[in-house]
Amino acid sequence: MRKINAIIIHHSASHWGDGPEIVRWHTAPRPKGNGWKVPGYHVVIGNQYPNYSSYSARKPVAGADGKVYRLVSEETVANGCYGANAHSLHVCLIGNIDLTEPTAQQYLKLWDLVKHWVTKYSLDYTANVHGHGEMVRRLMNAGKPNAGPKSCPGKFFGYTGSLIQSSGEVYEKLTNAWLRIKGVPQV
Ligand SMILES: [Zn+2]
Repeated sequence: MRKINAIIIHHSASHWGDGPEIVRWHTAPRPKGNGWKVPGYHVVIGNQYPNYSSYSARKPVAGADGKVYRLVSEETVANGCYGANAHSLHVCLIGNIDLTEPTAQQYLKLWDLVKHWVTKYSLDYTANVHGHGEMVRRLMNAGKPNAGPKSCPGKFFGYTGSLIQSSGEVYEKLTNAWLRIKGVPQV
């Protein structure tokens, strides 16, 4: 089993999308995509708009909100954070979370996934679970060149004004031990 020491959380910075769309954006040749060999994330968690037509019509698609897409095996090194991929797992929430909050279903599925990975790989919530922007800052503070998106997974991630209140222990740990103590940007 690959050694894992970081779970890195992202947003797509798009209003819509799904797993296959993310794979296209990351692996299609430039200029259509990023031209990467491997997509950036192991897992994508959808919002209510899996494609452009549903978003442009503001018509939520049944079953899309909180849908979990596995893009690559956990044994595969994905491409989500330059300089920190070899021992990382990446998960991305669909949405521009600099502008809107994740959905309640996305939080629930994210908490489930993070809890699963923390247990499976014997990790610690405070030491091993990071936002992408937080990881970029850590790398830069360590003198490593990096220029990643500093707000990822978005300014509204962990917004305490209207977070759901009933997802139990993992939610408490993440909101208390991680979002607050570690200073993930709050609005
Ligand atoms: Zn990111």
